[in-house]
Amino acid sequence: MLRILFLIILFFLFSANITLALDVVYPTKQELKINAQSTFFAGNVNPKSTLKINNESIKIWDKGTFVHYMPLFYGTNEIVLEETLNGKTQKTIYTIKRDKPTGISAPILPFEEKVADEILYTKTIKDRATIRKKATKSSKRIVDLPKGVVLYIAGKQGDYYKIDAKGDSQFWIHKSNIEEPVNVTKMFMAEIKTPEHYSDKYYNYTSMAISHPVLYTLEQNHKKLKLTLYNTVSINNPSNKSNNVEFIFEDENQVLGYDVLFEDNKLILRRAKIADKINPYAPLHGIRIFIDAGHGGKENGAMGPTRVPEKDINLAISKKLIKLLKEEGAIVSYSRIEDKTVSLYDRIDMAKDNNAFISISIHANSLPNGKNPYTEHGVETHYNNENAKVLAFIIKNNLVSDLKLKDNGLRKSSLALNRPTNPISVLVETAYMINPEEYQKLQDDKFQTQVAESVKKSLKQFMILLKK
Ligand SMILES: [Zn+2]
Repeated sequence: MLRILFLIILFFLFSANITLALDVVYPTKQELKINAQSTFFAGNVNPKSTLKINNESIKIWDKGTFVHYMPLFYGTNEIVLEETLNGKTQKTIYTIKRDKPTGISAPILPFEEKVADEILYTKTIKDRATIRKKATKSSKRIVDLPKGVVLYIAGKQGDYYKIDAKGDSQFWIHKSNIEEPVNVTKMFMAEIKTPEHYSDKYYNYTSMAISHPVLYTLEQNHKKLKLTLYNTVSINNPSNKSNNVEFIFEDENQVLGYDVLFEDNKLILRRAKIADKINPYAPLHGIRIFIDAGHGGKENGAMGPTRVPEKDINLAISKKLIKLLKEEGAIVSYSRIEDKTVSLYDRIDMAKDNNAFISISIHANSLPNGKNPYTEHGVETHYNNENAKVLAFIIKNNLVSDLKLKDNGLRKSSLALNRPTNPISVLVETAYMINPEEYQKLQDDKFQTQVAESVKKSLKQFMILLKK
């Protein structure tokens, strides 16, 4: 009996070694269309195998990982993958179609201006009603308004309404964010009363009674912060005929986190302050930091060539970082310390609810079709607002030098987790999931600790800069 069992075990051990095991993680289908000049093949084979793609020998990395850059021609591209082991070969064929550009672009929809003496009234019907610079989804976001903001409409283009606001700026809102505009007899200007200033442990507040919530913009320019309220008059200054009210706040230090809230017929501008004096020997002591491990639960994020999901790597690094920051005396909050689904906006709310001074979102990177994983890789940090640029720069530089990774740039980009102006928000792309060397490193416990150490060091350096 025992001898049979032994033979069975031996058989399985042996057969595992001779099994062809080609697993293509990307592209995800064998027949598909990709309208880009290239794609890449990422996946894994039995580490003892050899792999050819269109007769070219492919390097096999740790655990059978392979990543291959593949230019695409117009028409049908047939790509043959051949895994060979102990004289046995298995072929898998991919058929990828690439269309020739037609030169026809989407028609530009006309702008339909409202009738001259018509006054079109509407209101936002949901929170995070995005105001954009142009009538397209891809155009710059100006502000996310809460539910109940009164707006007047100047015209329409496609699915976007142009907002009637005095000044040079253009403001557009998608129709899904507002009530169907109705004709009214009069434009009601919002009225504000004299602002009150007060503060607590975390913020300086400027609060003013307002007759109804309005469109506003907040712009940071170096040490200045400008709040503009549109279609608003100040009852203390009725002679001002501009229909806009502006406030300028000037800080002697760098502008920290800031945001606007509408509460109980009040508009409140919050400007973060540092709760306690920064101790140069323990600069994170008492500092509230939010750590966001990207993706989680149903959201894998990028998938590595051996099917390790990005969410696991983000979580491992984040947990180490949370521990290190706590050891420095920081007050740490986080989006998750387990594998669970958390929506992007819940993450942002958690950071605000915890009065976080800084928010760091941890990710590992991937690439779209048309890019080469062997030339585009390394560390990237992403900021959206000027108040996060210095921190993003410090984190990127430290990661590049501490981990000996390629510098893939400090990037200004609009992502859910770096868009808030409060807290100071940075998104870190530690390294690339689809670069074989970096993918190997990302799974290494020591490397993950080094990433966490490097981010901690950067946060300390940033706080010391704020002290000066
Ligand atoms: Zn990610």
